[in-house]
Amino acid sequence: MTRSHTCYVCKKEFFNAVYWYDSLHDTKHEKRIIRPFCGPACANRYREISDENDYPQRKPLPHGDEWRIIQDIDHIEYETD
Ligand SMILES: [Zn+2]
Repeated sequence: MTRSHTCYVCKKEFFNAVYWYDSLHDTKHEKRIIRPFCGPACANRYREISDENDYPQRKPLPHGDEWRIIQDIDHIEYETD
């Protein structure tokens, strides 16, 4: 089963996510958040409109089930906002 995603930027529903934001890498979010983008345009737009880059990187990366490395969001449940 392949799930659909809702683009965080343009709110379009789509399949086969290639781009997403993952809170694994920055300290802004206490928990794991995934924000899918429908394509490179929205992924680039997100970099312009978000302040994520203003937060320090998480070092070392947290451990545990919630923080496992995600390589594919098409076949998992994830929390978004
Ligand atoms: Zn989009």
